[in-house]
Amino acid sequence: MANGVQGVHDIETRCFIDNKFVEAKETFAIHNPSNGELTARISQADVDLVDSAVDAAEAAGPAWAALDSSTRAECLNRLADLLIAHTQQFCWLEAISVGKVVTFYPAEIQWAANVLRYNAGLAREIHGETSMATAGFLNMTIRQPYGACGAICPWNGPLIAIALKAGPALVTGNTLILKPSEKSPLTALYMGKLIIDAGFPPGVFNIVPGHGRVTGAAIASHMRIRKLAFTGSTATGRIVKKLAAESNLKNVTLELGGKSPLIVFPDADLEETAAMAAFSIAYNSGQICIASSRVYVHESIIDKFVGLYVAQLKKAMGKAGDALNPTTTHAPQADALQYERIMAYIDGANKEGAKLVTGGKRIGVQGYFVEPTVFLNPGQSSTINREEVFGPVASVNTFVSEEEVLKLANDTEYGLYASVFTKDLNRALKFAKQLESGMVGVNCTSPTMPFDLPFGGSKQSGEGRECALQALHAWTETKTVMIKL
Ligand code: NAD
Repeated sequence: MANGVQGVHDIETRCFIDNKFVEAKETFAIHNPSNGELTARISQADVDLVDSAVDAAEAAGPAWAALDSSTRAECLNRLADLLIAHTQQFCWLEAISVGKVVTFYPAEIQWAANVLRYNAGLAREIHGETSMATAGFLNMTIRQPYGACGAICPWNGPLIAIALKAGPALVTGNTLILKPSEKSPLTALYMGKLIIDAGFPPGVFNIVPGHGRVTGAAIASHMRIRKLAFTGSTATGRIVKKLAAESNLKNVTLELGGKSPLIVFPDADLEETAAMAAFSIAYNSGQICIASSRVYVHESIIDKFVGLYVAQLKKAMGKAGDALNPTTTHAPQADALQYERIMAYIDGANKEGAKLVTGGKRIGVQGYFVEPTVFLNPGQSSTINREEVFGPVASVNTFVSEEEVLKLANDTEYGLYASVFTKDLNRALKFAKQLESGMVGVNCTSPTMPFDLPFGGSKQSGEGRECALQALHAWTETKTVMIKL
């Protein structure tokens, strides 16, 4: 078997607490999704280990928060450099745990490093306001860190998810207890060594692997964690928010699932639109929250568009194979559970009578590979049009009028990302305004996103925003100070 990474075989399986690696009493298994073989057994942080991480984070907090913010930024910049320097190692670890293909993953590592550096650059922007409106007073607000915070991450973009949380959390002076997904703990734990090398003091950045119902629940319900940032499914987000409310009413930000509409008008450049729409659902084998999984096409161009879209989708996914093989472009789904979920959605759509245009089957007998799959006009109320599949599966639906398609696109409880393709500026702006979504792409779609502007969802796709100054605000509390003159 060809191996696209060289000379790296280092797997860390222990929790990382107070800059030390710690064994847990229990372990859990992860498997290589390219072949189903056991990859490693990982420590599962229980309530006691989460408590130890909180102790360490609390102890480290005051000194970390008292540093000049540029000193905290230097640690983040060094960590970014170390991520890049260990690209080969990260590629290997992600390939054997969640099946990230080695030819594509360096771009995500670069992305994660950029997020850390961007947040380091915001170190001097942690500002409050002043007011002279009250006679005889000079009043002000200051933005202060929460202290020991929690972060719970998904597996589909492991290092990016970590960077999006750790960057703003740490530069603003918080300390962190971060739980990677049980599907993708290897890169997070390997990062432990780099956290030490980057100069983070003990206790500032702790990593506790484990399943959600054990480790995640211990974080979400912890009485001394005052802020929690969660990224994952809407169903889990609801549980986490409940645990937070029922414990100490900690501040929670939620980045949740999506069922993103992409609208194509006849005046759009159809070839370019089909390529972008296909890449959006092909990227990471459809395992991305902002994937354009609901495509709406004007009835006058439906046949032409479907032909272009299916061809581009097959091209974008390319060759299925071992994620370590440098010629592979089509990644496996992350694990058996994810694979079975996707196949159940395809089965359900077939049973509901949706017209299958392409795909629908497993590829090969080893590993968890799903053909790129397209259903045509399954019906607005069909499950495939309403629920997040998180795989290379899209529906293409026809529409007639602007009013109709706006209604169809907004007819969902999700609101993460929406796209409209048209050359008519008025129409583009009208849709940008009226689409019920945290992010709207005009003549572009996901994974396009600028990190210097907020990222997040409306409706049941989330609460709060990541990226940009809004992230600094999310990781700090406002205090109002009244000064009598
Ligand atoms: P998930 O909800 O299954 O798990 C997310 C995290 O929550 C994991 O770390 C998991 O261990 C933890 N968890 C599970 N049960 C828990 C519990 N009871 N208490 C505390 N923590 C618990 O999601 P996933 O399968 O890891 O990720 C895919 C989902 O994430 C998709 O819905 C996708 O759309 C969403 N996602 C959203 C964004 C975004 O920015 N909006 C980004 C990436 C992924």
